[in-house]
Amino acid sequence: MERREFIAILASTRVSASWQNSTPAVSISSAADDQAATPRPLSITLLGTGTPSPSLDRQSSGYFIEVGHDVIVWDHGPGAHHRLLQSGHRSVDVTHAFFTHLHYDHCMDYGRLVLQRWDQGADRIADLNVYGPPPIARMTEQLFGVDGIYGPDIRARIEHKSSQDQFEARGGKLPRRRPAPKVMEIHAGSVISGDGWKVTVGHAQHVEPYLECLAFRIDTSEGSICYTGDSGPNDAIVELAKGCDILIHMNHYFSGTEPSPAYRMACGNHRDNAVIAKRAGVKTLVLTHLLGQIDRPSVRELIVHEIQKVFEGKVIWGEDLMRLTLADARVSAIESRQG
Ligand SMILES: [Zn+2]
Ligand SMILES: [Zn+2]
Repeated sequence: MERREFIAILASTRVSASWQNSTPAVSISSAADDQAATPRPLSITLLGTGTPSPSLDRQSSGYFIEVGHDVIVWDHGPGAHHRLLQSGHRSVDVTHAFFTHLHYDHCMDYGRLVLQRWDQGADRIADLNVYGPPPIARMTEQLFGVDGIYGPDIRARIEHKSSQDQFEARGGKLPRRRPAPKVMEIHAGSVISGDGWKVTVGHAQHVEPYLECLAFRIDTSEGSICYTGDSGPNDAIVELAKGCDILIHMNHYFSGTEPSPAYRMACGNHRDNAVIAKRAGVKTLVLTHLLGQIDRPSVRELIVHEIQKVFEGKVIWGEDLMRLTLADARVSAIESRQG
C-alpha cells in the first residue's frame, strides 16, 4: 500500500486518542474544526491529584481548563501529560500553560508538553503562551534553547533529512522553526486575559524565599475557580478565593500528623482547609495533592466529615481525570472514573 493511500484510510477512520497522536495531520484539522465550533463552557479536569511521592493512582499536579476557544493547563507535573492524553486531549490543543511554582511535581512535564506540541504541531499551530514565576524564562531557555538540554535533539529534528520528511508529511513547510514558547514571568498581582476569561495571580504561602509561589483564580461570565497551587493557610489565599464557585486546595497530611509546624505553615492540613473555605465563602472545596497516608477508606470520610462541620459547602475528594463543569455560576456536573 502506498503511503498516501494509507493516510487516506486513517483520515476516514474514527480514530482513538492514541491514533490521533500518531496522525497529527488528521488530528490538527479536527482541532481546527473544534475551534470554529461554539465556545466551550468553563470546565476543569483534574489531571494529577498526587504529590511528589510515587503513585500509580495519582499523578503529580496538573489541571486542564477548557474555556471559550482556549485550553489552559495549570501546572504540569510528572504524569499530568499522560492524564491529558487519557482525558481525550492532546498537546496541540493546549493554548496556555501556567505554573504556580517550580517544584518538580508541578512542572516536570513542561518539557513533554512543549516538545510534543512542537513536534506534532508541525509549525501549523500558534506558539504556546507560558506564564510562571521566575526562573520560568531561564528554565525554558535551558530546556529548549540552542545550548539547552534538548538543543541537540531539536537541531537533529530540524536538520536531519528523515525528520524533515516526517515534518513535511505532517503538513509542515521547511525550513522548520525551533520551539518558541512565549514566556511571561508573573507575580502576585499579575492579571492575564484570554477568550472570555481572566486569570488573577495571588500569593501562596509555601517554600519562600527559595521558590516564588503563586495561586491562580480564573473568572468568566459563568463563574470562577481558584487553585491555590501549594499553600499553607494565609489571608492572601482567602482574599483570592473570595466567593469562588470552586476552590482547589492541597491536602497533604491528616491534621496533626504533618512532620512539623513549619510543614503545616507551608502546606496546611484539612482543618486549615475547612477554615479557608469557610472564610472565603466558596461553594465547593476540592481536595487535591493527596498523600497515600490519607487516601484510604474511612480516613477520606473522616476528613470530609470534619471539614463539613466547619464549612457548609460541598466537599469533593479529588481524583485524577475528574471533570468539574460550571453552569449558572454553580457546579452542575461531576464526573469521575468512578462514575
Ligand atoms: Zn506539590
Ligand atoms: Zn510545592
